[in-house]
Formats: sequence, C-alpha cells, structure tokens
Amino acid sequence: MAAESVRDRGACSSRWRKIPRPRRVWCLYWISYIGPVAGAAQQELKALVLIGGGMPKAYWYRAGEITASDLRPGTLVEVPLQKRKVPGIVVETGHPDLGFDTKPIHRVAPDSARLSAEWLELLRWISQYYLTPLPLVLQAGLPKAATRFLFHPPKRATKQPMEKSIMPVGKNLDPTAGQSIAIETISKSLESGSHGAFLLHGITGSGKTLVYLHLAKKALALGKRVLVLLPEIALTPQTIGRFESFLGRKVPAFHSGLSEPERRDLWKKIFAGEADIVVGARSAALAPLENLGLIVVDEEHDSSYKQNDPAPRYHARDVSLFRGKQAGCPVVLGSATPSLESYHAALTGKFTLLELKERATSSPLPEVEIVDMKAQQEMQGYQHLSIPLRDAVQQALDRGEQAILFLNRRGYSTRRVCRACGETRMCPHCAVALVHHRSTRTLRCHYCDFSISADSPCVKCGEHEMLDTGRGVEKVEEHLHKIFPGVGVARLDRDSVSRAGEMERILEEFKAGETRILLGTQMVAKGHDFPKVNVVGVLDADAGFGLADFRAGERAFQLITQVAGRAGRHKGSGRVFLQTYNPDSALLQHALKHDHAGFFRDEIERRREHGYPPFRRLLLFEMLSRKEEEVVKAMEVFALILNELAPQAHADVLGPAYAALKKIRNEHRLHVLVKGDYPNQLQWLADEAVKRFAPSQPKSVKLRMDRDPVSLL
Ligand SMILES: [Zn+2]
Ligand SMILES: [Zn+2]
Repeated sequence: MAAESVRDRGACSSRWRKIPRPRRVWCLYWISYIGPVAGAAQQELKALVLIGGGMPKAYWYRAGEITASDLRPGTLVEVPLQKRKVPGIVVETGHPDLGFDTKPIHRVAPDSARLSAEWLELLRWISQYYLTPLPLVLQAGLPKAATRFLFHPPKRATKQPMEKSIMPVGKNLDPTAGQSIAIETISKSLESGSHGAFLLHGITGSGKTLVYLHLAKKALALGKRVLVLLPEIALTPQTIGRFESFLGRKVPAFHSGLSEPERRDLWKKIFAGEADIVVGARSAALAPLENLGLIVVDEEHDSSYKQNDPAPRYHARDVSLFRGKQAGCPVVLGSATPSLESYHAALTGKFTLLELKERATSSPLPEVEIVDMKAQQEMQGYQHLSIPLRDAVQQALDRGEQAILFLNRRGYSTRRVCRACGETRMCPHCAVALVHHRSTRTLRCHYCDFSISADSPCVKCGEHEMLDTGRGVEKVEEHLHKIFPGVGVARLDRDSVSRAGEMERILEEFKAGETRILLGTQMVAKGHDFPKVNVVGVLDADAGFGLADFRAGERAFQLITQVAGRAGRHKGSGRVFLQTYNPDSALLQHALKHDHAGFFRDEIERRREHGYPPFRRLLLFEMLSRKEEEVVKAMEVFALILNELAPQAHADVLGPAYAALKKIRNEHRLHVLVKGDYPNQLQWLADEAVKRFAPSQPKSVKLRMDRDPVSLL
C-alpha cells in the first residue's frame, strides 16, 4: 500500500529539487521533470533501469562500454545493486546530469530478450493516465521472476509448435445472417490492418462468441495475434472450450488465478512467440503480445474489467482500445447489455454499432413477468417465492426442466439483531453489519473476513437470543428444500465455491440434470448456457437500486437482463419472474420489454443532467487512515487545494464526504469526487494538488486516486 501512496510520489518529486544528491529514483511518473539538461553532450550515456522485487524501484546506471544501439528502452540488463548483480529493464536512456556518480551496467541480455517498444509505450500510457508510478505498472504487467528467465530466453519459435489437436464439436458453426454481417464488417478492418472500435450488441443467446471465433480464425490465418478478454474466466470454461474446439487446438488462458510459475510459463510462451492467441481475464489486457490483429472484450460492461487494488487502477476495456489504436487492429466490444459509455460512443459514431437482434437458435427471448410482492404478501404473507414463481418452477420440474433463481445476497441472513436490546451485530473493524452464515455457524464480515461464532452473545447486553433479518441465499436454499422436497438444489455463490474445482462440479452437475434448481448470487447471471432452463426467478429485483452510486441503476438493469437471458435459450418457452415492491419502476418496465434502448434513453438523460460519464470525466480521491480526526482534517486541506485549482482545470469538486462504506479494516474513508471535461486537465489537477498537499500530508493518511472509477461506494 505504501508503495503506491501519493505521499511517496510527492516526496519523491520534491526530493528531485531540494536534495542535492538523489540516488533513488523510484517515481518514474515524474520522469519528465528530469528532462534534458544543458551541456548534455558532455554527459555520458545513462540508462534508467527498473529492478523488480517486492517493491519495484528504478535507478540510473551509466552505459560504460555498452553502445547506445545496444541500450534502448526495453533492453534487459544486469546491474550491480548493493553487493549483488540483479536483472533489470531499461525504461529510459539519456544523458542527464544527475549530480552524483552512477555505477556501470554489468551486461546486456541477448538481443532477442528485448521488450517491445510498443509494450513499454502501453505501460507508460497506463502509468500516466491512471496516475501510477511506472514501476508499479510494470510489476502488474510482468511476473516477478520474468526478468530472470529473460536472460536465458527460449528460442523464438520459427513455426507453430505441434499442439495437441482437439476435435471440433458437431455444433452448428455456420453464422446466421446477422452474425455474417458483423463478421464481414469487422473483417474489413482486420484485413486492412486499420484500427476500428466495434460494439457488438447482441441479445442474450444471439451467438456473439461465434462472431469472435470466425474473426479469430481470420486473424490467425493472416499471421496476426489475437487477444480475447473474458470477465471472471473461471466462470466461463465453456467459452475457452469453444475456442479450442473451433480452432482445433489448445488455447492458453491467462488470469489472476494462475500461480506465479504458471503465469511465468505462459508469459514465456507469449514472449517466445509461441502463443498466437491468448484468452484471459482483466490482467491479460497487459500481456506483452506483439503483432496484434484482433482484440475482443466480451461482456464489455462487466465491472470486473476495472482493477481496484493495488494500482494501477486500469480499465481493461480502455486499455484494449488504446492497444487497438497502437497496433492498428479492430477492437470488438461485445455485450447484451452494453455499458452506457460504450453505447453512447456507438450512437455518436465513435464506435461502429453492430447488432444481433435474434437468438442463434431462433428461440424468442423469454417472456418477462413482474410480480408485485406487496399484493403477494397480502395474499400469502411473506414468502421467498411468490405464487406465480413457485407454480412456474413446479411446472418446469414436472416437465423435466430446470430453473435458476437469483438473489444477490450471500449467507443466511444479512443482519443479526439482539432480541433483548435490538443491537445489530456489527463488524468491529468495518462500518458494516455482520452476515450470518448458517452453513459454518459464523457471523462474517464480507469486507475484512472477520468472523465470530454465530452463537456468541450480544456485545452490548450479553443476550444469547438473536433474530435473523434480511435473507440471503442460504435461507432461500433451506426454504426450497421445504417446498420442493426431494428436488436437487445447487447453491452457487462465493462461499459454495471457495474450494478449487467446486464451481466446475456445481455447474457440471446442474448441466447433467443431477440438480434441478440452481440458486445463487450474480455468479448465476454470467454467460452460462443450460438448454433445460426455462424458468428464471429474480427474487429481489429491487436490490441495488438504492445504492449511493450513479451506476446502480445501470448495474441492476444489466444483472436482471443477463440472468433473464439464461431462460429458454434452446426451447422458445422461457419465462422470467421479477419479484418487486416497485412494480411500476421504469427500469423494470424496460426489462419487461427487453428494451435496452428505452433504458438507455432514460439513463443517459440522467447522466447528462448530473454531469456523469460519458458526458464528464471522473477522478475519485480517497483518503484512508486509522486515525479518524487526522484523515478528516487532511481531506479538508486537500479539498481546499483542489477547489483552488479546479477553475483552471475547468473541473468541479464534490465533497469531502465520508465514503458510503465509512470504515473498512479499521480505516476511515473519505472521498472527494472531481468532475472534469478534459483528461489532460484532470491529470494536471491531480499532479498539482498532490504536489501542494505533500508537505502537509500526515504519515498516517494514505491517498489513493481512481481515474474513471467504476464504483463510488
Ligand atoms: Zn443485546
Ligand atoms: Zn469487517
């Protein structure tokens, strides 16, 4: 955490000017301040070398015997550090007058081990745009030990290695008319080697993946490389399988769940040119693939594409768009529920809009019904499943079909209250209520993992009797066993899949029909394709509406549409039930009609009115400290500085205010949100404010910056 804190960067930037003999240069973000100096000709060639490790740093070394042509950015070198010789990467060369002696570079690695200038440029852009020191960006893009093996680089493959061939599955792989148009349009950009951004807006089940498959094959045939991003890759093993069977060979998957050796091996392969297609989650966006011919970002609206902690807080979609421009290749953003930003870009001509309006199986979209829970409650009292939903599930079971039920709440009850004094059981470290997990008989905090026995007495009065309020999936699971006795119910949430292989097992068993009802959190909304699912129930369609986040409505609409899209994909009789206490809400009415355009029109107006993206750009400053008073004071000072600078940057400052989650892991959190119109001005504002604030920043206070934040909670 300390490594990325702005205090360090601020201190470093001032160190450049005030301290006469700076030796350590680990804030490359400020590198432009060094600049060329007068009398550069007299200075000998030097290189700024990044050295990896727990906390990456960069130091200047002199070239010594090594010539300028051998020492370019991206070159791997071995340099002395204390008494050892360590590998490092040249990120900058020049003739700066540093005012102190530098040690000579020991040796350079074989030329084949050079990192591409294009890739370094990408990392540099991320560093600048996302306000993160370059060493941290490099660390995110490069596995820890990568520099070590690069000194003994694998031989670059001259031809495709023999891969175990995989038999194509006997599925219909001919594109529909809509798919063909999309493939042809994007192919033009692909074949001409020119950049284009395409929004592939296809309803759920419309076969976006088939479009990717055909395009990937074309790009590979042209000798180009392909990068495919999927959200939360562990949830979509099916997609990787489809790529493998279509291309007839193994496709490496790149995601944060890989162990360090696995990641290193894959990286090695990519580097040696052996991997011409990489499928991966967010972090794959940083993979050092050269000669890209196609980039696909599937489910582009998914919030998991945004990196949260640690920095750089990049958005994989935006990184992909940058890479597409850089490489001159098409970037395909696919979604049934595109983000407002992307859809707006498509409507205003920044992206090319391609639509798939029919399901690949030509099944119609499911019929959506809104269930008024107020009326239901009057009839039957409080029930988890309304009568229409329960009947539909029963009928589906009778027909030998399956059902998916969605409730985005983990645990048994979301609040446990003392029966004697009414005290809610809270996390001692966070400003949130503990969640009762009956399966483990614990009360747990979902933010810091604190847990305590569910039978522990009230901290206020010592009472043992507790009341459970607010239901979670565990409670509904219990209820399902009661109303559908003897029916196999599978629960899919983060708790049920905590052990490796559990998720695959749950999904396999459901697909095979061993379980008949799949109940779960948003994990059930992801791109699963279960032919026998014809009924989907959203148990609480109002969840998420009230959140203090301008994206709450968008996210709710996306989730509902995605989970609804699991119904009736193969047999045109899907039914979806939205249980709600606000049956007239405009959002649900749009969901009822599968009307993404209508939802977009409403929501984009709200964004315009309040100056949110895509109309204005956001920069979120967050301050954290265990000492509440200090962080409140510090944030006030910082906000004053921002307010002073804001007019020059044509920006508006909102706050300071406590974050919606006031305290997490004993750290008090305060926010200031800045809205601006120009990226460069926001960057200037951030740099300037941090510089001015640095001298008064208390040691206990951390400052983090989030460019284009996805969550404001
Ligand atoms: Zn009590
Ligand atoms: Zn906690």
